[in-house]
Amino acid sequence: MSNSSAAAVSNLGALDAAHHLHPFSDMKKLNATGTRIIERGEGSYIFDNHGKRYLDGFAGLWCVNIGYGRKEIAEAVVRQMNELPYYNTFFGTTTPPAVLLAQKITSHAGPNINRVFFTGSGSEANDTWFRMARVYWGAMGKPTKKAIIARKNGYHGSTVAGASLGGMKWMHEQGDLPIAGIHHIDQPFWYAEGGDLSPEEFGLKMARQLEEKIDELGEDNVAAFVAEPIQGAGGVIVPPASYWPEIARICKARNILLVADEVICGFGRTGHWFGHQHFGVEPDLAPIAKGLSSGYLPIGGVMVSDRVGNVLVEEVGDFNHGFTYSGHPVCAAAALENLRIIEEEQLVERVHDDIGPYLAAGLKSLEDLPIVGEVQQVGLMAAVQLAEDKASRKRFEDKEKAGVTVRNHCLENGLVLRATGDRMLFSPPLVITHAEVDQMIDITRKGLEHAWKVMTA
Ligand code: PMP
Repeated sequence: MSNSSAAAVSNLGALDAAHHLHPFSDMKKLNATGTRIIERGEGSYIFDNHGKRYLDGFAGLWCVNIGYGRKEIAEAVVRQMNELPYYNTFFGTTTPPAVLLAQKITSHAGPNINRVFFTGSGSEANDTWFRMARVYWGAMGKPTKKAIIARKNGYHGSTVAGASLGGMKWMHEQGDLPIAGIHHIDQPFWYAEGGDLSPEEFGLKMARQLEEKIDELGEDNVAAFVAEPIQGAGGVIVPPASYWPEIARICKARNILLVADEVICGFGRTGHWFGHQHFGVEPDLAPIAKGLSSGYLPIGGVMVSDRVGNVLVEEVGDFNHGFTYSGHPVCAAAALENLRIIEEEQLVERVHDDIGPYLAAGLKSLEDLPIVGEVQQVGLMAAVQLAEDKASRKRFEDKEKAGVTVRNHCLENGLVLRATGDRMLFSPPLVITHAEVDQMIDITRKGLEHAWKVMTA
């Protein structure tokens, strides 16, 4: 390293503050406190520039499913870089990794899903199906079927369509969103919004809002309904068991496309290859990203059912949509190797049969704490809901403070968790060991005890 670059590295914090704008960040505050600089990863751990080790209970950003530091991926990437670093898939060409990856992905989806359209990210995947759904209905002779119904507090990305499909008001406020034609219904968040209903009654009630919205808009004007099988960024909100079957029934009865956003839930996170499989429903379109490459390189896509795919192929002609990096050969090679590892190490089965139930038992052991209102978990995706009074499901007045207090205490003690308001979110690598889960539960317990003291002082 040259002297000037060595000096720059020792000065990274100041350079970051001067030149780097971070996503979803108040830059003035961040520049005042400084960023953490993560330099290295190994298995379920990351290491900062002071050599401090953290257990990554969040798998990066819900994505590092196979854990950090897998040389096989690095080697597959170098091989592909040397062979063919880039080529497009636009003008009648393709590349071996793109073809093989499309085939591999569909081999893990249900029998009615046989095609993939590649993108560079989850946001682009949501923009892609948004246009595809409307093109589909146009080709079906129903050009008025354009409206998309989504959910409040859903997350589908940060592009204009992605953020519009998402139901986060504080995102809509920036940039005059949502764009026209997108409508939001309530989320199936029983703990916060279920009132006196049982979870099952509430799940049905929330699902039936879809039918009410279709009636309001007119069936001939609605193209699709989109939801995450389990809301991720919204707070790992696992819907009551009654919810998804009713949603699927309504979509079928009212002839609208069902879109499952699998960007977080896909590739083993729930103990199935895809989150919709956990709930036993079959989507017509499903955006994917994150765990597809375990985040090693950016790649996403849309899984397309035969219902839509056959019309696209047989009827539409040109679909005027695509990205320079659609099916990028190096990203596809990384994803292929990632899926090979998930298969070979039987990580989906491991989540379903072994480490998922182990995490569930660990989290359940926290329920003796007064601050734990509820634990929700599917596979290696979980939330601990904080409460001021368990019995009445009363939440703290300052939800942010409660969550941030737990999160910061855990961070100081070497565990990365995420807080969405007053829900503590867990999404560790699928390779996390039993001992590491024990450590995660241990540190979390201390963080929860600490926050209880702070919040009730
Ligand atoms: N959909 C869901 C469900 C997500 O969680 C995310 C990212 N957190 C996205 C879409 C957007 O993906 P990306 O950040 O890769 O654009």
